[in-house]
This record gives sequence, C-alpha cells and structure tokens, in this order.
Amino acid sequence: MASITLYDGVDQIGGNKFLIQDHGTKIFLDFGMSFGSRSKFYDPPFLSPRSCNGLLELGVLPKVNGTYRFDDSETEIDGVILSHAHLDHSGYISFLKRDIPVYCGETTATILKGLSEMRAPSFEQDFSDIEFRTFRTGDKVRIGSIELEPIHVDHSVAGAYGFNIHTSSGTLAYTGDLRVHGTKNSMTEDFRNRLAEDPPDLMLCEGTNTTGATVSTEAEVASKLDAITRSARGLVMADFSRTDIDRLRSFIQAASNNGRKLAISMRQAYLLSLLKNDPHLDVPDIGGEDILIFRKNKKRYMKWEQTLLDLPNITDSSLVAAMQNKVVLAASFYDFEELIEIDPVAGSVFVLSTSEPFNEEMQIDFDRLTAWLDHYGVPQYHVHVSGHIMPLQLREMLEQISPKKIYPIHTENPDLCRRFLSGLKSKVVRPEKAKEYNI
Ligand SMILES: [Zn+2]
Ligand SMILES: [Zn+2]
Repeated sequence: MASITLYDGVDQIGGNKFLIQDHGTKIFLDFGMSFGSRSKFYDPPFLSPRSCNGLLELGVLPKVNGTYRFDDSETEIDGVILSHAHLDHSGYISFLKRDIPVYCGETTATILKGLSEMRAPSFEQDFSDIEFRTFRTGDKVRIGSIELEPIHVDHSVAGAYGFNIHTSSGTLAYTGDLRVHGTKNSMTEDFRNRLAEDPPDLMLCEGTNTTGATVSTEAEVASKLDAITRSARGLVMADFSRTDIDRLRSFIQAASNNGRKLAISMRQAYLLSLLKNDPHLDVPDIGGEDILIFRKNKKRYMKWEQTLLDLPNITDSSLVAAMQNKVVLAASFYDFEELIEIDPVAGSVFVLSTSEPFNEEMQIDFDRLTAWLDHYGVPQYHVHVSGHIMPLQLREMLEQISPKKIYPIHTENPDLCRRFLSGLKSKVVRPEKAKEYNI
C-alpha cells in the first residue's frame, strides 16, 4: 500500500515536504524552506539557525531517517522531486544527502544553481554537489515502484510543474503552485486536461488565495506599469522578483513604450545569461537595446559579477542620476544605499511589484523601505498579480478534474478550503501535519 505524509506545507503557505512511500520506494515531493516554522523560532540575523540539529529539534526539518547529509545513517530516500524554484519548495535541498538525486525541470535546475553561485555560502543554502536530473512535460520518470508524469503549469516563476504520480495503489496528483491568469495559461490548461482524462485518487491542491483574492491578470499589470511610467517625470524604481520572467517582460515593455531603458540588477543579468540557453524560455537578451545593467558601487566584485563588468550597457548610480527620466531602475530595498548618490528628483516613483509586504522569496522590512522613500519624497505604487489561482477558478478546475479525494495544502485557511470545495463529487480532507495517509 502506498502512502503520503505531509511534513509542512500544511496550514501554512509553503515549506512543502511530502513523503511518498510505496513498497520500499521513498520519494519527497518538494523540499522547501518553511518560512512559518522557521520564523516561529528564529529572527535573523541576530538569531539565525546555526546547526541542523537545532532545525531538527525544533521541527523546522522533519525527522526522517536516511535523508540528511549531517546524519550517518544509510540513505533511505530514492529521490526528491521539485515542482519549481521558489525557496518555499526547494530551499532545504541544501540538507539532503548528496547521493539522493533531485529531479526537476531544466529551468529550475538552472535557477537554483545560479542563485547558489551568487549567494554568500551558508549551511541553509548550499546546493553544491547536488545531482540534478531534469525532466520536461511528456516525460515519464520511473523511481522504484513510482512513475512520475511532470506537466508544466503557469506560475510566477519560470519552469513550474505539477505532477501526476502513479503508485502501486493509486494515482496521486500534485498542483505545485499554479494559476490561470498569467501569460501562459495554456500550460495550466494542459495539466488540468491531462488529470481530467484519468481522475486521480488523491489530489494535493494549493489553496493560497482564500482571503483578499484580487482579480487581475499579468496583461493588466503590464498596462498599469505602462500608465505609471508614462506619467512619471523623474526616476521610476521597481522591485520585482528576479525569477519572474513574465514580470520582467512587462517592465521592459513599460520602459521601452515610454522612451526609457530598464536597468536590471547584475543578479538578474547573470540569471538571464544562464537561462538564455533554454530554447523553451526565450528570455530577454541582456544586450538588448532596451536594457541596461546596473552595477552597484563596491570595492570588490565576485567572480560571477566580473563576467558582466565589461559589457557595453553597464551603468551605475552616477549615470542613472544624470538620466532619471530615461530609466526604469530595478531596485529592491537592499539596493537603497545607491539612492544617496542617485538622489531621485521630484516626480520620481517607486513601484512595489511583489506581494505586500513580503513575497515568497524574501521578507522585506516594509517600515524601513517606507522610511527611505519618505526621506526622498518618493511615493509608492503597488502593482502586482498573484502567482496563485483564485478561489472560484480553483473550484472550477477541481470540478473538472474530479479527483476521489482532495487535500488542500499550501494554505493558511484549510478549513475554509474544505468547506468551500465541498459539494463537488470529491471528498475533501483537511490533512494533518506529519500523519501518514494511504493513497
Ligand atoms: Zn509556494
Ligand atoms: Zn511558488
């Protein structure tokens, strides 16, 4: 009999770590960092996790034998499957024994390797020596007695997948994170149609958006960004996720429609230079005429940064200061020291284009961000669309797929989800953390 145990990713958004066991085969679906469980005990940088034992003791990492590189036991896990590159789904692969292969899409592997190269080494975020095995839609991946069908979905990071998983006692589907209001909705449509052909016995379904769902689309975001950029007379600054290529395109379009260039960070440029080899992504060219690469002022540049320093379209704060009405500057809160030299002119604006006040990847100190903008007299706009499906569309999708059982996950409101999704043909179960369920 196959079973599933949900360690984290239950009653909270992210941290997904789902163990499937089937006749001696053991795989994890996602192995994310749980911001919720972690921040219950830690408050970086003054109280940061220092040892894996601490994370295990506090339940931030699940106690599963044969999983971690810091324990001496024999490896018992046959593979870890990642749905996408957001850290709440992938971040804790850092702790895995290195003979456990990590299966993911090509884009996810490229993003994770790139982020790891650009990051200061830390035991919580060390992806060195991980064996990535990549798949794409249409593949069938066999791991022991389990067969995995990855199917692309649209989400706020490039290269996201959902899964149809065949075990010896039934089929399990997993949405990962998905939406139907992005720029590639046909991918989510493919996922839904494939599952509807052969309804799964159990479906793990994300329920992120249950309170305050805002109806919008990426196309609407692009048009709002265009309108703001058109009216701005000074510098336009913008904070958006580096791995959200659709949002990047929306900003490039807003800039070029209005006679400006988008100045991207070096991190963004480096990531794009890695992703450009993926023919399915068709990422913007960092040498394109609408793009500048913004170099922060510092004494020493890391190895990956040095590969960009000689590009003809490199710029810095003194150049941006001199052409404020010709630039949209991608700048997160962590770049705000540069504002001292740029000194935004009157009529400048800041566009927060991530979730408010924090996104899945980093917690922004919102009060400090506001203090900086207040100091320079820069008003703040919020233009964003969620990476996650809206409630009515979720219900419609599940009605079409009609799985035997639905487990709402990746939600802070599991009871709301359970009641909202009742009345369909499926039985809706509110799963408990760390409890083993038969498939
Ligand atoms: Zn997530
Ligand atoms: Zn995500």
